Amino acid sequence: MTSDVVDHWLNNKRFAGTSERMSEVTNPATGKVSSVVRLASDADAQQVIAAAADAAPAWGRVSVSARVRIVFKFRELLAGRTRELAEIITSEHGKVIEDAMGEVARGLEVVEFACGIPHLLKGSFSESVSTGINVHSKRQPLGVVGIISPFNFPAMVPMWFYPIAIAAGNAVIVKPSEKAPTALIWIAELWKEAGLPDGVFNVLQGDKVAVDALLDSPDVKSISFVGSTPIAQYVYERASVNGKRVQALGGAKNHMLVLPDADMDLVADSAVNAAFGSAGERCMAISVLVAVGSIADDIIAKIADRVATLRVGDGTLGCDMGPLVTKEHRDKVAAYVQAGVDAGATAVIDGRDVRADGGDDGFWLGPTLFDHVTPDMSIYTDEIFGPVLSVVRVDTYNEGVELINANPYGNGVALFTTDGGAARKFELEVEVGMIGINVPVPVPMAYYSFGGWKNSLFGDTHAHGVEGVNFFTRGKVITSRWADPAVAPSRGLELAFPTME
Ligand code: NAD
Repeated sequence: MTSDVVDHWLNNKRFAGTSERMSEVTNPATGKVSSVVRLASDADAQQVIAAAADAAPAWGRVSVSARVRIVFKFRELLAGRTRELAEIITSEHGKVIEDAMGEVARGLEVVEFACGIPHLLKGSFSESVSTGINVHSKRQPLGVVGIISPFNFPAMVPMWFYPIAIAAGNAVIVKPSEKAPTALIWIAELWKEAGLPDGVFNVLQGDKVAVDALLDSPDVKSISFVGSTPIAQYVYERASVNGKRVQALGGAKNHMLVLPDADMDLVADSAVNAAFGSAGERCMAISVLVAVGSIADDIIAKIADRVATLRVGDGTLGCDMGPLVTKEHRDKVAAYVQAGVDAGATAVIDGRDVRADGGDDGFWLGPTLFDHVTPDMSIYTDEIFGPVLSVVRVDTYNEGVELINANPYGNGVALFTTDGGAARKFELEVEVGMIGINVPVPVPMAYYSFGGWKNSLFGDTHAHGVEGVNFFTRGKVITSRWADPAVAPSRGLELAFPTME
């Protein structure tokens, strides 16, 4: 069906807007266009922002109990219909259904966390800080908040933000990736069914025009962005100049450091899962395995054995790994594979030879494994965002950590070892935001916060957890005098800076 149009969502209804610009959405497993998504004009964006701005004050005054009841209802609806959403994700992203189910499950954790927000919104109170004077603090919603998300987790990444933002009393505008726009419209219908009032959850489809409208509008108080590093930096700078609070999560190049004492079967299983799951299109994918000492040959043999058992194909057919998201992206990743060969790395497995179980026009590229990769090669320096694993050989632990710390990204990292002392040293020394010890994809639970260091995050607030609650609220401290004048009479005129007594 090429006639489906993916709309915006405004005031709990589909909204077409006036822009005639459209972008095609393809099913990566067939290469066929499945729908077209609207690309907002600035006028469309202003209409969505205005609706959110109208809704925000009333929603912020709804009692926290009533807000959470709606979030809880949303959680119940979503938990009961996970498979439906997973199928939408697979049809536009290409990842296999089980992986898409996992994506929704991890997003649901944030919804569940947001159901506990009354506890996190509690202020503090101090009695008699001075004679007859009390102090208390509170946190209030920001108003309208913008969320701009990437193609690779069409459901989970926006869910890092909007459950908390909504529970905290904000109105939300989500700008999904134009490559995978349908999941958010499905989610919007669910919020409506859960009873969320008009204008509190809105979806603005589009490209740079829509993004810039959010970055520039004085009615949008914060921006939560997830995507590639150059765009994250652009979003951070432009939104900051416009006075907004911004958290802009960028790209990654995640290393797995393997010490000679590690369990090599665990290492091989973990490397395959973390490098080739979701066809490597995860910001927490492992793309570099750093082998310390003389273990590389053994690891490479074990990885190659395992890769030989993987079935690449249509994500709806029970395969292990799906296609890449678009033809352009597949071609870009294939060009990196060629660049690796040209630079002198050893292609142990070349994914360009893959025979996929799917459509002839699907965007296929199989798992690719390079050995003897050096830090000057583009397959090492660049975020490829595909199923390409590079093995770098080093002599010592220190050499491995220096390599990781010299990398401009700092999203995730993993250490494989059976030595607790080495693990403790690694945690102290490595300059990366999320660390796995014998865990290859260390995505934090919803009640911790998700975020990298260096070029993997612009801004100082990570996603979800307490940091997420703080991001979507702002604090007030109230100092009040409600005392009997006989106990605390006015001190009369006193122009010096007030002190407590
Ligand atoms: P992308 O940067 O191309 O797009 C992200 C969003 O920005 C999309 O909504 C897109 O429409 C918008 N956008 C694109 N170009 C723009 C421009 N010139 N001006 C304004 N907005 C623009 O990223 P992608 O390809 O969709 O996603 C993959 C990237 O996301 C990878 O780099 C990956 O590492 C990163 N990512 C990071 C995390 C993290 O937590 N750090 C999580 C997921 C994905």
